[in-house]
Amino acid sequence: MGSGPVAILGGGPAGLTAAYQLAKREQPAVLFEADETVGGLARTVVRDGYRFDLGGHRFFTKSSEVEALWREVLGEELLTRPRLSRIRWRGRFIDYPLSVGDLVRKVGPAELARCAASYAAATLRPAPEAQSFEDWVTARFGRRLFELFFRSYTEKVWGVETSELRAEWAAQRIRELSLGRAVRAAVLRDGREVHSLIEEFLYPRLGPGQMWETMLAETVRRGGDVRLGSPVSALRHDGTLVTEVRAEAGAGAIEPGPVISSLPLGTVVELLDPPPPAAVVAAARGLRYRDFVTVALVVRGADLFPDNWVYVHDPEVRVGRIQNFRSWSPWMVPDDERTCVGLEYFCFEGDGTWSADDSALVDLAASELERIGLAPRHLVERGWVVRVPKAYPIYDVDYGERVSTIRAWLEGLENLQQVGRNGLHRYNNADHSMLTAMRAVDNACAGTRHDIWAVNAESVYHEETRAEEHPYRRAPETPATGRALTNG
Ligand SMILES: Cc1cc2nc3c(=O)[nH]c(=O)nc-3n(C[C@H](O)[C@H](O)[C@H](O)COP(=O)(O)OP(=O)(O)OC[C@H]3O[C@@H](n4cnc5c(N)ncnc54)[C@H](O)[C@@H]3O)c2cc1C
Repeated sequence: MGSGPVAILGGGPAGLTAAYQLAKREQPAVLFEADETVGGLARTVVRDGYRFDLGGHRFFTKSSEVEALWREVLGEELLTRPRLSRIRWRGRFIDYPLSVGDLVRKVGPAELARCAASYAAATLRPAPEAQSFEDWVTARFGRRLFELFFRSYTEKVWGVETSELRAEWAAQRIRELSLGRAVRAAVLRDGREVHSLIEEFLYPRLGPGQMWETMLAETVRRGGDVRLGSPVSALRHDGTLVTEVRAEAGAGAIEPGPVISSLPLGTVVELLDPPPPAAVVAAARGLRYRDFVTVALVVRGADLFPDNWVYVHDPEVRVGRIQNFRSWSPWMVPDDERTCVGLEYFCFEGDGTWSADDSALVDLAASELERIGLAPRHLVERGWVVRVPKAYPIYDVDYGERVSTIRAWLEGLENLQQVGRNGLHRYNNADHSMLTAMRAVDNACAGTRHDIWAVNAESVYHEETRAEEHPYRRAPETPATGRALTNG
């Protein structure tokens, strides 16, 4: 391996974590970030003093190392916030996490009885191993619950039919949920059965961007070389080592020692010079992503609705989720008489939603906010649009094989480690993205041989935990419930 500085590709949570840790260890490193700001998918956008996330970012983790790092960086600025969220379903707002009384009131006893019968039928009839999301959910919860609660939202989020989504996605996100547990938890309410991490979460006072901006400042203060506005344009290699990292926009080139890359797997393959074999390039081009557009609206009135966010299952509106940033942290909104809400539209880069004019999107968001009953249109004063490419790696039928093909070839480059979310094409949250970077730094500097691909590989992504495992939980103020029917 060369003796040059560590090259860090990308300045999202993973890349910044690597840069911050290396700066603390006084190891020379150069970070290349394409954007002018840090934070990647987890950044906070600021417009006219209003701060908003691309999609609200809760900070929760089961990793004590990651939590210690968050607290080290932000100290008292890391707030513990209460969670309130509901599901907009058939014109009604259902508490989420679920509570039985609320479900009976809003879904109705007759419908609940039909769901129970369909659930009983599914559990009595052993199903063959599920290949698709639809089969997986139907086998566990019954067809009726699948149709009522899972289909429309999942298809909004992923833009493909649930029969086309791999069962792994369901297994990763909702593996720990059984209907029995959810119902028991909703009934028990004393919280002893299952505590949901999501009743409270950590959140920086000024949004997630505050975490990344503070890490950036500390990295630079300790002498770290961070090059913003510097997209990596080529990775030269000799078949066993990356020998040069080259960036656009006059950011220069370096001959790296170790390379820690949080760039999407497909991007890395495209940047390799000379290119890898055709099969690897084809696998990289075949990886798919779900993209997304956030429309932030400034609305007159400080108390529009109490939720941090609302999941919108109703198929007659296109919005998937609505964030209320004043509820995340009052410091996100600079004006006591206004609220800032973020409407999330899941889409594909280049499709009608993605390509629509900003003004048309602001208009759509304002009218859907009114249609859902959250705020009349005349209270919306202005809005901004942010387009977010590659927000979600898609687990389609071929993704596993494609990732294996790419991974096997990249492993021949001894100084390259892929980290993060799209870097591993895995549905990692910020905590696991950061943990992969921490492990990669150890490998690069301390001679460890952590398998980065093993971090979060068991897909343990449950937001449930037993009470004693949850370090920042206070006594529940809202009913304790099970992990349920929608994704975060
Ligand atoms: C809608 C949404 C909601 C989420 N909610 C949560 C949540 O509540 N809690 C949570 O913990 N996580 C959440 N996440 C996940 C979290 O955002 C990611 O885990 C995290 O941002 C991944 O960090 P990363 O550094 O791996 O990648 P990214 O954040 O994607 O950062 C990669 C960086 O690489 C840069 N880059 C790309 N190409 C180049 C290039 N050629 N040269 C240089 N730089 C380049 C990009 O500009 C970007 O800054 C959410 C994600 C989304 C999309």
